[in-house]
Amino acid sequence: MSEEKIVENTGLGATGNFIHSYVQEDLGENTQKIHTRFPPEPNGYLHIGHAKSICLNFGLANLYGGKCNLRFDDTNPAKEDVEYVESIKEDVKWLGFDWEDRLYFASSYFQTYYEVAIKLIKEGKAFVCDLNAEEMREYRGSLNAPGKESPYRNRSVEENLDLFERMKVGEFPDGSRTLRAKIDVTSPNINMRDPVIYRIAHATHHTTGDEWCIYPMYDFAHPLEDAIEGITHSICTMEFEDHRPLYDWVVREGGYEVAPPRQIEFARLGMTNTVMSKRKLRALVEDSLVDGWDDPRMPTISGLRRRGYTPEAIRDFCERIGVAKANSVVDGGLLDYCIRDDLKTKTSAIMAILDPLKVVITNYPEGQVEMLEVENNPENEVLGNRTMAFTREIYIEQEDFMEEPVKKFFRLAPGKEVRLKGAYFVTCTDIIKDEAGNVVEVHCTYDPETKSGSGFTGRKVKGTLHWVSATENVKATVRLYDHMMLDNPEDPTGNMIMNPTSLEIKEGILEMAAAEAKKGERFQFMRNGYYIVDTKDTTEDHLVFNRIVSLKSSFKLK
Ligand code: ATP
Ligand code: MG
Repeated sequence: MSEEKIVENTGLGATGNFIHSYVQEDLGENTQKIHTRFPPEPNGYLHIGHAKSICLNFGLANLYGGKCNLRFDDTNPAKEDVEYVESIKEDVKWLGFDWEDRLYFASSYFQTYYEVAIKLIKEGKAFVCDLNAEEMREYRGSLNAPGKESPYRNRSVEENLDLFERMKVGEFPDGSRTLRAKIDVTSPNINMRDPVIYRIAHATHHTTGDEWCIYPMYDFAHPLEDAIEGITHSICTMEFEDHRPLYDWVVREGGYEVAPPRQIEFARLGMTNTVMSKRKLRALVEDSLVDGWDDPRMPTISGLRRRGYTPEAIRDFCERIGVAKANSVVDGGLLDYCIRDDLKTKTSAIMAILDPLKVVITNYPEGQVEMLEVENNPENEVLGNRTMAFTREIYIEQEDFMEEPVKKFFRLAPGKEVRLKGAYFVTCTDIIKDEAGNVVEVHCTYDPETKSGSGFTGRKVKGTLHWVSATENVKATVRLYDHMMLDNPEDPTGNMIMNPTSLEIKEGILEMAAAEAKKGERFQFMRNGYYIVDTKDTTEDHLVFNRIVSLKSSFKLK
């Protein structure tokens, strides 16, 4: 975790980081002039790393009264898809951010990039090159060796204009020619060694169809997109730091030297026990290792939403991780901390048994159903009370009983007395085993004097257990999720290794209150964790719950 001060969840972007100083330095009193953008490439679903960028870009604009655009960076025709465009819009909105009327597509500027390219050719700052990819690599040199000039570098303006026009109308096959900026092949920065700015690709684009067969490279298109939209601060991740001189070159030579956007880099978010890149996440989906992009184990925004995370918790997480230049891997436990913190006063706690052990209360009348009143959330009175059915036969968790209790086991054991939450004290009198010697039923007696809420002070017990009536209950499928990936998510050959126990499915027994549960509703399962009613697999007559997060954690906030 960063050293930065923990700030309140304002949803305004981590305040007080170095980017704020840059903005204040650049804009002085006019901070409301800030104009940022979130520029996803629509080639996959957004993940929690993107949430960091969204909170930062929209957060800065919100904080200073400026603007933030949503811009699809869709200049690469091969990998992009409208399905992704819709999901990205939904995710940004769900996170709580609003681009108002500023939804843009980089592909709508194709004509402008083209005109800038023509301008560069006319000014002798760009040329058509016939080297193929391999030759170009050789000419480019390396970190230690300068590059060599392309033999095509000194073509005349007329010849360049003619060739570029013929590239545009489709005369040449893919890869046969490129348009390159004429900068400096001896520059210590490889990005400045006459970079390719246009390539030929006979491909159908999701918005412009077959109108173009030449496409601008990212390093050429992105600065122009920012300049066209009047972006003041173009915030991107660290790998673009070495591209900044080229970014500035394109803005300047492209004719946008008045009020140029400033590129600022920050560290990408990485998280323990997960993979983050869209390419890897897509591979998990395509290989059917997960149940789609919104599988509740995925670090995608749609996965986190289905898992039961709230936008508030994700924004809080993004504030807490802070923004810095040094790459770091954040403990996934912090995200869990944020969701627990958000849900602790918002949810009702109900009782659910996931590994049932039957308890028969031998001195309780057969057939009697007693309605007991219990509090929904001791930390939030507003959530009120509900009633729970108490009966002669109930279930408790198997782990709450030990035939031979170890030291400090204060739960149920032969001869021991415990409190049943919201009900009575019971004492274990007998156990019944199957042929294999497993305890299959526990017999108890209850003390009517000890009824919850009666003010009984006669004696104390150390353990309090949750329970569910064996006859008055609701059955539900309960999915327990754990980390998606093992500690080291890739084997030496680069294959991804999923955590084999990342999903465990139980048939749970829940108190009657759960019968009313709606899709997307969240609960605490007492003494266990926070859960959400799955929005996809829940049907009219069968509930499916996803565990959002367990109650206990070894994670400590630093
Ligand atoms: P990926 O490798 O996951 O595809 P990307 O950088 O190619 O990531 P884009 O769609 O280009 O994905 O990203 C849109 C914005 O989100 C960019 O400004 C990018 O810098 C930012 N972003 C992407 N991944 C992260 C991350 N892990 N942490 C912070 N910001 C990120
Ligand atoms: Mg990308």
